[in-house]
Amino acid sequence: MNDCCCNRPDETKTECPSAVEPLAWFGQMLNHCLQYAQAAKDSGKPVVGILCEYTPREPIMAAGGVPVCLCGGSANTIPAAEEQLPANLCPLIKSTFGYHVLRNNPFMEMADLIVGETTCDGKKKMYELLGQSRPVYVLELPQKADDPDAAAHWLAELQKFKVFLEDRFQTTITDCRLRRSIDVMNRERALRRELAASMQSDTPPLTGRQLLTLKSSISGIDEDLAQYEKAIALYQCQSASGVGQECPTSCKSVRVLLTGVPLVTGAERVLEIIENSGGRVVAMENCTGLKPILEDVDAAAPDPLRAIAEKYFHLPCSVMTPNERRLETLRRLVREYRPECVIELIWQACLTYDVESQRIRRLAEEELNLPYLRIETDYSPSDSARIAVRVEALYETVRGKQRDLQLKY
Ligand code: SF4
Ligand code: SF4
Repeated sequence: MNDCCCNRPDETKTECPSAVEPLAWFGQMLNHCLQYAQAAKDSGKPVVGILCEYTPREPIMAAGGVPVCLCGGSANTIPAAEEQLPANLCPLIKSTFGYHVLRNNPFMEMADLIVGETTCDGKKKMYELLGQSRPVYVLELPQKADDPDAAAHWLAELQKFKVFLEDRFQTTITDCRLRRSIDVMNRERALRRELAASMQSDTPPLTGRQLLTLKSSISGIDEDLAQYEKAIALYQCQSASGVGQECPTSCKSVRVLLTGVPLVTGAERVLEIIENSGGRVVAMENCTGLKPILEDVDAAAPDPLRAIAEKYFHLPCSVMTPNERRLETLRRLVREYRPECVIELIWQACLTYDVESQRIRRLAEEELNLPYLRIETDYSPSDSARIAVRVEALYETVRGKQRDLQLKY
């Protein structure tokens, strides 16, 4: 009999609020977002589709719009996409485009505008096809992250975008409106950061899969923010009262840092395999995890648009060259979250993350002394068993290292 006591409430200690509510709320996230977007449209607000964390939500919100993520995470829409796109393209791009072909993403269907960005080549060219029948605006993202000319170009690009939004939606984006949207986004980032920080504990209160559930396709929804606060209060209470602190070594999961491509809604399979095989993802460095929420926009800056440009330009995506900030971020996350291994997920045909994986492997194995595993896959479940075997072998390496250490000291 497994007598593991992880997360078992201790009745002698303070009673904490229930975890059920925030998880149940975000379990219905897509329905809530649909209702929110529909209500916004009914009241005359534009719905704006976005597809990347470089696209700043703040100017869209300051124009009265509702930015909603349109990234596709379903394998079911890929065959329709492959009638027009090459099969050898990343599944995220194909799935998103498949929704367009099949017209079955309600957010895309209600979008008054789709904002793309020049990140990887596949997305860039896919936007041209989208633009043949939908209103698409593409932000030109310079890709030399540390070049002052590139930063200046990005600011100019956002200034142009602001004028475009004003013209398109017949509004004026004042500094005051920009500051209000910065405040909302900074608050959301801070709450999500705090929630993620609960995973730094020796006995994390959530699984990585649960933490991934606690986020929304639309930013700044009041009830979402309230639910983040409830979840934080719960996990702080648990930590203060000692609930979940009694985990014996026998039921200890391997702490994993997951890096690489984003796990958009519907494409969580690899995360589930990692955790079902005996791991606990304590930190997700990717764009659906910590990467976009580690830095805030400077709310006190004299020029709010410049402050927005600076924050977003710092995002350490593999489309940047060189991409030293990603390595710095990983070093920081390893210090703070104390993973025992690094797993890198790469969607098939994602060249930038794939090439960069050489550096991440070296960083993990040679500098951080952490076992590393690279998983390249797509949205099809056909390789799930093979992935599980490789993940279990990685955990054996971790446990072997721990045994060696115990013998040594
Ligand atoms: S991984 Fe790169 S291209 Fe993809 S959403 Fe993040 S920033 Fe954008
Ligand atoms: S995962 Fe890679 S190839 Fe796919 S959209 Fe993101 S950057 Fe592009």
